[in-house]
Amino acid sequence: MDIRYNIDKVKENVKKHALKVNRNPDDILIVAVTKTVDVSRIEEAIKYGITDIGENKVQELVDKYPTLMDKVQFHFIGHLQTNKVKYVIDKVKMIHSLDSVRLAEEIDKRAKKCNRIMDCLIEVNVGSEESKYGIEPSSLLEFIKELESFDNLKIKGLMTVAPYVDAEDVRPYFRKMKELFDNTKSLNQKNLDFKYLSMGMTNDYTVAVEEGANIIRIGTGIFGKRLYDMEVK
Ligand SMILES: *Cc1c(COP(=O)(O)O)cnc(C)c1O
Repeated sequence: MDIRYNIDKVKENVKKHALKVNRNPDDILIVAVTKTVDVSRIEEAIKYGITDIGENKVQELVDKYPTLMDKVQFHFIGHLQTNKVKYVIDKVKMIHSLDSVRLAEEIDKRAKKCNRIMDCLIEVNVGSEESKYGIEPSSLLEFIKELESFDNLKIKGLMTVAPYVDAEDVRPYFRKMKELFDNTKSLNQKNLDFKYLSMGMTNDYTVAVEEGANIIRIGTGIFGKRLYDMEVK
């Protein structure tokens, strides 16, 4: 397992599939998903060009933070319980998993306390899967409206974990996400500043890039198979 080789491979694929649809590969941010990965391997990834990492467990993020805080940007990508917002609010660049008004309220409150504006992506359950978190596509506009009063929270775009299907079968879901993204970004709301579409993981990021993702989240494809598979449901 060679982290440098894997990163180069991901970059090469991003480039190839971006160019295929006339996109600039530099517009696509690779977030290395580091759940279950120890600090020394994360440092190796940073050495070979990784600037942003994603964690899905608060405790794990908090544990790794002191060692890595000056070297890399943290993203929170897993389901976030409201009572744990206080532990990540001063540590992460962006929360990818905003999925309830209650959570937004807590993020807003905590962000205000530490005098910052927290960038968030709304997680969309694009496949309407019962096992997944996220806002139903049909409820997205209404949800965004409900966030209007939160001044210390900035809605920067959308995130999804697509249904786990063959690479080509996933395309319609990514296409739908891009459509939702484009239809929403022109909304006039003061805490809305749509920039990011976070979609695509190891199995499907090449398709996600072709369909308009500008953040992809890659774990296995960089660090190899996880010892304990702690997939978010
Ligand atoms: C684990 C995880 C990923 C990365 O998954 P891989 O298949 O290992 O690339 C991406 N996004 C979220 C939300 C995850 O929990």
